[in-house]
Amino acid sequence: MPISQSYKNRLFPALRQIAHHYQTPFHIYDEAGIRETGNKLKEAFKDLASFKEFYAVKALPNPKILSIMKDMGFGFDCSSVAELRMSREIGATPEDLMFTSNNTSQTDFDEAALAGGCILNLDDISLIDKVPVLPELICFRYNPGAKRTGNDIIGKPTEAKYGVSHEQIVEAYRRAQQKGATRFGIHTMLASNELNYEYMVQTAEMLLSLITEISQKLNIRFEFINIGGGLGIPYKPDVPELDLKAMGEAITALFKDFSKANGYEPALYMESGRFITGPHGVLVTTAINRKNIYRTYIGVDASMSALMRPGMYDAYHHIEVVGKEGGETEIVDVVGSLCENNDKFAVQRELPVIEDGDILVIQDTGAHGIAMGFNYNGNLRPKELLLKPEATVELIRREETVDDLFATLHFEHNALVL
Ligand SMILES: *Cc1c(COP(=O)(O)O)cnc(C)c1O
Repeated sequence: MPISQSYKNRLFPALRQIAHHYQTPFHIYDEAGIRETGNKLKEAFKDLASFKEFYAVKALPNPKILSIMKDMGFGFDCSSVAELRMSREIGATPEDLMFTSNNTSQTDFDEAALAGGCILNLDDISLIDKVPVLPELICFRYNPGAKRTGNDIIGKPTEAKYGVSHEQIVEAYRRAQQKGATRFGIHTMLASNELNYEYMVQTAEMLLSLITEISQKLNIRFEFINIGGGLGIPYKPDVPELDLKAMGEAITALFKDFSKANGYEPALYMESGRFITGPHGVLVTTAINRKNIYRTYIGVDASMSALMRPGMYDAYHHIEVVGKEGGETEIVDVVGSLCENNDKFAVQRELPVIEDGDILVIQDTGAHGIAMGFNYNGNLRPKELLLKPEATVELIRREETVDDLFATLHFEHNALVL
């Protein structure tokens, strides 16, 4: 989707100056936009007894961004040691941390237990016996199997490696209870980039009815249900946005019904990543080469190390060329410099006629953008900037250097004679 008019109005007039000062390529995020979306999410669930968003750190793992989330009262959904550490560094407390690992190692558990712990979300029934010290609050990730269909990005639940199966779920809580757990939550994550809000309503309904069943069998209460992330954003122009307000109303109604039937209302947790930051970031890159062979290629100074989604999922990211709106157009492929033919930001896209030196704004890169980047071919990831509400720009991560790539080549000699 084209970025919001507000972000565009603040960013585009300053882009030449920003590009001159910092050099392209860079991702630049809009703090005001991120806060606006965060507040909309809170507003949608304001009638619930308790709602908390745990921002999915993997979507945009940068301490400055996480600090904005903390400031909005959000927690953090972490799935690795690095994500837990980064969240703790910016002041996340144990209640702020939901640790949703899978194929969990002892190192993961050790990190999870540090500094007062976190909300431990176990991915399998077998892990109850592997947690070094079982905390009093335990959550399981539930995989409903054939009871639900997934979506294109995430796939079918029956083929997903995640979670505890329906057949095992009651037994999982029974074992946790036997081992001393006294507080309980439940989690699931079934969709990715889902624009139909009803899918999330069905997920809430599924978990509320499941906890009713488990509660009856084991005589326990659930403190929260976590319906996961996966709220979608429209990457293409003219695709309607997810109806957050309708989603909030429908889920709130389910909670009120649950409360009437059960005499208490659990908290609703959510762990959106893409929805919160996705639309509020762009990748800014300069055209450096124009090549006419069987197709016209516009070579830019960024490559898929900065944004994998087009190459990996054939994903559409809207592109605008600064100062060329409404001009003459042509059909081109926009490409990076990797020796991989899927290193393309756009394929056969109608864009204004681009010349060397033009600045391209590749949109919706605020989630799963730089975070997914890789160093294949020795390509370096670009810097990250933050546009702050008081009209200043701040560097929030420097670009990688070749020395960073070579850092792992400096080590002590270590040979094994066989
Ligand atoms: C990736 C992920 C999320 C966030 O997904 P979005 O599509 O960015 O909202 C949330 N929870 C878990 C467990 C995830 O793996």
